[in-house]
Amino acid sequence: MIIHSSTFEISAVRPSQWPTGGLPEFAFLGRSNVGKSTLLNRLLNRKSLARVSAQPGKTRQINFYQINEQFRFVDLPGYGYAAVSKKERAQFAAMIDRYLIDREPLLRIAQLVDIRHAPSKDDVEVHAGLRTLDVPLIVIATKADKIGKSQIDAHVRQIRKGLQTDVRILPVSAEKRTGLEEIWAILEADLDN
Ligand code: GDP
Repeated sequence: MIIHSSTFEISAVRPSQWPTGGLPEFAFLGRSNVGKSTLLNRLLNRKSLARVSAQPGKTRQINFYQINEQFRFVDLPGYGYAAVSKKERAQFAAMIDRYLIDREPLLRIAQLVDIRHAPSKDDVEVHAGLRTLDVPLIVIATKADKIGKSQIDAHVRQIRKGLQTDVRILPVSAEKRTGLEEIWAILEADLDN
């Protein structure tokens, strides 16, 4: 994908702020600190369009980015951040659910998990919820540079087993810029469909 333009549109705290116009959307979600902002910046060749969180869980809005005036990236708030109150967690969960369930232009959801670890309870629950939606899904296993190349397949198998899924799992490293072409190939195919 050649990126001609990528612009931040809005940090939405309520559905009335979601952009209109129906451009196709790719949504990204994962636990706080999984490497989501870093990956979005790498995919778009931007240094800091998506804010790399100094403070985990700080991003509590749905951030919309418009790319090539053709489609959007939607950065959903990181889940699993213990320091927020139960009530606040329930509020984001409701907002994320509403987006995932209601959003007509949503073409695909990418769930990010850290390749180093077995999926957390949150990862497993979120994945099970996503699979009930009628939206194509991929799992992106982040920070692949943190493990040896020879360990990647075993870690992907561990993630597959933990999530109990047959969804495609792509190992990527935003740091080393590996796996990015594979992500783009999937998104481009979605746009062409
Ligand atoms: P977010 O909370 O999911 O948006 O996560 P961030 O993008 O802020 O990343 C969390 C931390 O992981 C930061 O210190 C990043 O530098 C680091 N990180 C993100 N991606 C990678 C990666 O591919 N490799 C390595 N080694 N570190 C990464």
